[in-house]
Amino acid sequence: MNLILFGPPAAGKGTQAKRLVETRNMVQLSTGDMLRAAIASGSELGKRVEGVMQRGELVTDEIVIALIEDRLPEAEAAGGAIFDGFPRTVAQARALDTMLRGRGGGIDLVLRLKVDDEALTRRIAGRFAESGRPDDNPDSFRVRLDAYNAQTAPLIPYYLAAGKLVEIDGMGSVDTVAAAIDGALAGL
Ligand code: AMP
Repeated sequence: MNLILFGPPAAGKGTQAKRLVETRNMVQLSTGDMLRAAIASGSELGKRVEGVMQRGELVTDEIVIALIEDRLPEAEAAGGAIFDGFPRTVAQARALDTMLRGRGGGIDLVLRLKVDDEALTRRIAGRFAESGRPDDNPDSFRVRLDAYNAQTAPLIPYYLAAGKLVEIDGMGSVDTVAAAIDGALAGL
């Protein structure tokens, strides 16, 4: 089974992905985590993406598609992938469909976590203080939200047309959101 956790920054994608990893036999594929690991390791890739990420802009499709492609065999062996923060553009979604089709698979469901902008801004205000992430500051967060609205939100009609999109109310507690996700997955 392959799932996408979809939504704006700070919608709770990472939290819910980690819970799904614990409760199901799946691998979390977070391009954000992979890029942060590249920066921490001081690699060439890390050096290339550091400034872009810090500003809150998207890195190129080419970079994140290659990162995901590398990890697909591992996810397949484990029983499936939970894509977290990928795809973020229509080009990435098309590339993902092609890669999965080439391996005889596909996306089963896209779980769209819906959280309104006001709640996101409130949540992130708490995170700025404690996260230590250089892109968790008001200026970068605004850029990340704008990137979501301009480049990532067009994936909603893309997956709607494919009949893959399920909307999850992301405003409740972690447990309430988790229960809604389990309900959606039970219908598969
Ligand atoms: P995240 O941890 O998912 O919020 O990602 C943090 C940052 O990494 C984003 O603001 C982008 O700069 C970069 N990033 C992560 N995933 C992608 C992606 N799929 N496409 C482009 N940039 C990405």
